[in-house]
Amino acid sequence: MEKPDVVEHFFGVYLLYCENPKYKGRVYIGYTVDPVRRLKRHNAGKKFGGAWKTSNKGPWNMVLIVHGFPNSTSALRFEWAWQHPQLSRRLRHVPKKKSREKTFEYTLNVLSAMLQVGPWCRLPLTLRWLDDVFAEAHSSKILPPMHMPISYGKVTSRKHDRKQNDNNKKEGEVIEDSELSICDICYMTLNKTDKVMCVKADCDLIAHIICLAKEFIKDDKILPVDGTCPTCKSNLLWGDVIRKKIGCNIHLNENYPDSTDDDSD
Ligand SMILES: [Zn+2]
Ligand SMILES: [Zn+2]
Repeated sequence: MEKPDVVEHFFGVYLLYCENPKYKGRVYIGYTVDPVRRLKRHNAGKKFGGAWKTSNKGPWNMVLIVHGFPNSTSALRFEWAWQHPQLSRRLRHVPKKKSREKTFEYTLNVLSAMLQVGPWCRLPLTLRWLDDVFAEAHSSKILPPMHMPISYGKVTSRKHDRKQNDNNKKEGEVIEDSELSICDICYMTLNKTDKVMCVKADCDLIAHIICLAKEFIKDDKILPVDGTCPTCKSNLLWGDVIRKKIGCNIHLNENYPDSTDDDSD
């Protein structure tokens, strides 16, 4: 067997195909930093960390994965749009699924369209077919832009060796620039003066102030009032985003309760 390719800083979005005759043809789109472990978990079921949608419907075959996202947020946004093409304003031009069309075929059509539009068409992504049979039958249906390589065969992710790379960092220092200097909306680099963050403590959205403002501005308004965080989907007041930027304290727990049900403290 051929050795898998090893990729560092792995952020991928994969497509599972259900091989169980009872559920044959179902698909599942997910995000992972470790495709080998993720597939094992899907096939082991919910108790072992699989998703409820895939639980007890296996075996699942991971047929392809798109990787090369700069960070988890950009991969998660891609995952969401691929799962919800009809809700993504970047994919309004993609035709709806025809009733006779197979879900798998439609899912590939959506992916193909996604790789052609911004912001994804600008990312250094790789389209990787993990299953030879599927690759042979379907690879001609997805033609990514020229700068995106198409790979074949297995891939494993290697954890970034923190010890080695953080020698110069002091204890407690935040690992910032390498990961946090890309806008989660336009995927271009950003510096501190343009940077805004989500108000929710557990959300890692960062964006250009202009990019987030554009997301928030409603058709008839000149200034943003409020809007939905593209990462955590919380409703945010623009004023709170700006207050956070300039360093005022906001009582996060009052305004933005955690999405979990656990509010014991
Ligand atoms: Zn931006
Ligand atoms: Zn958020």
